Formats: sequence, C-alpha cells, structure tokens
Amino acid sequence: MNRNPVSLIVMLVAACSPTNNAGTSAVVSAVAPEIIQKPIVFDARREELSIQYLHEHYGIVQDDASIKPTMVVVHWTDIPTMKETFAAFERPGLPPARAAIGSASALNVSSHFLVDRDGTIYQLLPETTMARHVIGLNYCAIGIENVGNGSDLPLTDAQLDSNIALIRYLHAKHGIQYLIGHYEYSQFIGHPLWKEKDPGYRTEKTDPGVEFMRRLRARLNDLGMQGAPERPKASGPNLIDERKSPPSSRRPLTAGNDNPDFRYLEPDGMALPRGSFGLGVVIEPGHRLAFLTGQIGDNADGGLSDDFETQARNALASVGVLLNEAGMNWSDVVKINVYLIAAADIPVWARVRDEIVGDARPSGTGVIVRALANPKARIEVSVIAAQKVE
Ligand SMILES: [Zn+2]
Repeated sequence: MNRNPVSLIVMLVAACSPTNNAGTSAVVSAVAPEIIQKPIVFDARREELSIQYLHEHYGIVQDDASIKPTMVVVHWTDIPTMKETFAAFERPGLPPARAAIGSASALNVSSHFLVDRDGTIYQLLPETTMARHVIGLNYCAIGIENVGNGSDLPLTDAQLDSNIALIRYLHAKHGIQYLIGHYEYSQFIGHPLWKEKDPGYRTEKTDPGVEFMRRLRARLNDLGMQGAPERPKASGPNLIDERKSPPSSRRPLTAGNDNPDFRYLEPDGMALPRGSFGLGVVIEPGHRLAFLTGQIGDNADGGLSDDFETQARNALASVGVLLNEAGMNWSDVVKINVYLIAAADIPVWARVRDEIVGDARPSGTGVIVRALANPKARIEVSVIAAQKVE
C-alpha cells in the first residue's frame, strides 16, 4: 500500500495585458487537495480491454486507452469500505458476479478517484486513462467514487469537502466543462457527447443521490460547469430504456410490438380495448414466468411526489428495474394490474402506460381503490411477465 501523499499544484497564469499599468501579473492557483496514489492494475490486458471498449462502444479507434476529460461523474460505491471497493476495481477483468454487464465488455469497472468516508482521496488511475464507470461517456469522463450508499451509509460532509476540492483541481487542470451525478448520465442520450453504440446497454443508477449533487453544485457554482441536459419530454417507449435495460444480448426495453412468442386473443365480435392492452395472452409451454410485486411511485430517495404523473412514471420505472433483474423487459409483460385511488387519474395513467408499453398488448386490469397501503401513494402497478426459454 502506498501511503505517500502526493500533492500537486496547478498554476493558472492569467494573461497579463501589456497595457496593465499596475505592472503586476495576476497568478491564480488552484491547489490540489492531498491525493494518495493507489493505482489499480493497469497492465497490458486492461489496456487492451480498454482500447477494445473504446472501439466497440464508441467507435473510437486508437492504440492506447487515453482520454481527453471534459466531464466529471460523481458516484457512490454501494460497497461499504474503501478496501473492498479497491479490491472490486483492482483486477483488469470483470468478476463473474457482474455477468449482467459482462456481455457488453469483459473490462472491469473502475474509477479515477475514490474518496473514503473520512474524505481521504485516493487516485486509482491517471485522469487521462479511460476508466469504465459511466455508459456512453467513459471516453471523456473522469470518475469520482465515494465510499457509501443511499441508505445506511450516506455520504459524509468530509466527502463533500474532498469532492469540492478535487473537482476544483480537475476543473483547473483539464478545463472540465460538465459535472454530473451518475444518475444523470442517461440524460446525455441524444447529446453530441453521447457515443454508446449499443441501444440495449443501459443500467439504472441513483448514485450519488440528488441531495449530494445539489450540495456539490451549490459550492461549485462559480466554475460555471454545465450539468446534464434536461431530460427530454418522453416521447415514446424509450423512457424505460433510460432507466435500466437488459444486457445487450436481450432485446432493448422498448416494447413496441407484440411479442411473437405469445398468442394474443382476438375473438371475432369482441372489440379490442383502446390503448396498450389486449383481451388476453396465451403463454404456451416452454416459458419462464415472473410475478412481480406491486410497485408504487416513490423516487430514488424513497420520497413520494404529490404529482400523479411522477408517481406513475416512477412506478413503471421500478417495474422496469424488476423486469430487468428477472432478465426480462416490457415486451415480456403479459398482464398489468393497476390500482389507482382516483378515476380522474386514468387519462394520465393511460398516456404514460401507452408511452412505455408501446404497441405491445398485455392483458390489463384497472381498479379504483379507496386507499393504498402507503397513504401518499396514488398508484400501484404489478405485472406478470413470461419469457420463452431459449
Ligand atoms: Zn455510479
């Protein structure tokens, strides 16, 4: 273990105009925080996997794994200690437990910096070497991981201070233009910086929490960095794509069409319902089934918005996460049960549901109930899904 702190100083020399009568040159220094060098393995294999990743995911062909950073992405580790996080990132190859993203690349995940709970900053990789920490943007993004999570190990004030000092330093050194939380990465889909070529490769992220990013930005305001682009008004079944999607071997989460593995009931003389559901689905032998627990529309922090549409979108997004965990997606859904507390919410529900379910036609049941178990909840959605065993 390398315990020698390496302190770096970046000097920004402000151009001194020849007509400056004062005759003094203004020197602005951004002093780096103390950074402990603790490199992960970057051997020929990691380099090769990184070069391959740049090529396959971004179409960037080069003979090294260098990047030109223009963005900082802040994370939490969801791993309780610095040591365990380091161990998870250290090896070049992805461990077998992460098979879900392994189909996208064998390159292990990592980050440039790791901030321990007491604020100690470790540097794992040079800032201009690609780390795998954010889909779509690794070729231009420096990653800062913070040891902690969104529940029992909330990020600390010491971590906040260290992130601020580190980001100021990186901004001065590299001209960083964008600062985002990992949970915001998918808002870059469609932005010129977005380069991911696999439309099915998305993961659901909540780190490092909305509140941590708010506090960070409040104290870095003067740097004028941009955040993520506004989330586009969802205009199709792609919304779920941005939340979480299956490994690339699976169809993307967009539903879009009837599932060719199912038989849809369309008896003569019975009108089809309007919207994204049909009269029934027959699942023939040879399918695996998933019965998902009803989801209410709480947000990443567990809070419930008063806004029905927000609740509806969150509930459907959570269903999407569960489907993904089951190795399935919306086109595998055969039944949607929705519980609403007000009939007045039906039109909004129908619109949001149609956006996300697309033209697929699971069977459906909708019920107006007096209350849900959580008194603030205005919607609960539970689904059944089936998938052909291949
Ligand atoms: Zn992250």
